[in-house]
Amino acid sequence: MYTILTYFMNIVVVRTNEDCLKKEMGILPDEFTKSLSQNLRIKSNPFSFGISDIQKGIFAKNNIELFKNDFESYPQLMGLKQLLVKCGDEENIVLINGDKYSNYDIYIINTALHEYYKGYNPVEVYHYLKYSFPSTFFPRHNIYFYADLGYDQFIGPTNGNIRKCRFCDSTDPHKFGKKKCSHAISLFMGNTALFCLEECEECNNRFGKGIELDLANYYEYYRAAERRVSRTSKKQIIAKGFNYEYNGVGLKFTSFNPIAGVPKVGESIPKDGFVIDLHNRKPVILHNVYKILVKYVISCIPGDLLDYFSETIKWINGGKRPRKGSLPPVFRYEKLYNVEKPSLCIYIRKDDKMDLPFCVGELRFMEFLYVYAIPYCKKDVMNEYLVRPLKSFVLQRFPQIDFTIENFCDDEEKMIINHVKIEGTPNTILQPLQIT
Ligand SMILES: [Zn+2]
Repeated sequence: MYTILTYFMNIVVVRTNEDCLKKEMGILPDEFTKSLSQNLRIKSNPFSFGISDIQKGIFAKNNIELFKNDFESYPQLMGLKQLLVKCGDEENIVLINGDKYSNYDIYIINTALHEYYKGYNPVEVYHYLKYSFPSTFFPRHNIYFYADLGYDQFIGPTNGNIRKCRFCDSTDPHKFGKKKCSHAISLFMGNTALFCLEECEECNNRFGKGIELDLANYYEYYRAAERRVSRTSKKQIIAKGFNYEYNGVGLKFTSFNPIAGVPKVGESIPKDGFVIDLHNRKPVILHNVYKILVKYVISCIPGDLLDYFSETIKWINGGKRPRKGSLPPVFRYEKLYNVEKPSLCIYIRKDDKMDLPFCVGELRFMEFLYVYAIPYCKKDVMNEYLVRPLKSFVLQRFPQIDFTIENFCDDEEKMIINHVKIEGTPNTILQPLQIT
């Protein structure tokens, strides 16, 4: 695998996709950084890396020793050494000067390197980076990026006396209990460090027992497959359906009736494997899945934009019922590499042209990517007219991705069926969720 280490005033370490740490540091003298850059082969421009910039951990570790006399004068250097020590000798690393690059850019660089690792050539990755770099290639939106980066981050004022709940407008300080009360993106999605301080305990409980459960149930099978731990029991999640039980390793069929498609005892597994339908036990309201995806955006978005979303918040709270089919679709892609921690990108249109949506959420978790417009926004005309702008947005932003388009407008409880492909090994290959 690869590792990116970026440093300087901001030390940003990205060893795996998730292991990201950022610390504010002081400025180093120019001469010193120059010498450091040369001896450690640090790229000053992350968008120009190529195969020659990839080096072995042992190389960087040995070379930082050249500066050991300077460790005391420059604590940043000690910080960098500590990060390098974590790398394996044979591990591939890329050192990039992370100064001036936002978390979002680091995320993009990281994603691009992952593509590189998967076999794309440097030129393709360069184009990917160029395309993804928001200020040059996505000029009509401001981009806000939120992720669990391994250290606590709080959205909203830390002073409890001036807080206002984003969802019920309550300003009662007694309703805002513990500092870490509300996760801006649900804990079960893997977020342990990103908190919204502007969500009162009452709303937090209400969402936890309501719309959040629908998303949790929707992905129960996948969470079991990734051997995630339950928030309440602290034990590994076991997905249970009407006809199966799955603990992330082995499937146990609970149905007395033989499941169609499963080879009988003594029969070999077909060469191409076979697909079985696993019926979940808990129903899901898809409309609530859309609401919780939008709720994450409302929890994270800069406070001065909230006025545009008062109707959106009413809808999340259940105070507005859309006509069937009137909500824009949700775009989902489910074949990405698995991420331990979720991340959320929020796009806010800078101009008043309504050919693109005012606000779009891009949520990445597990192997999924969701792209969705925020409905009921005062800066868009009507939800019905968001379909085309959203499609244009997706085409411009992700021309290479073939999304599944979902309509999450249904208030009825639906049973989820996971179509799971079983191959000749005990490993199961997950296929996209399908609703019947
Ligand atoms: Zn509230």
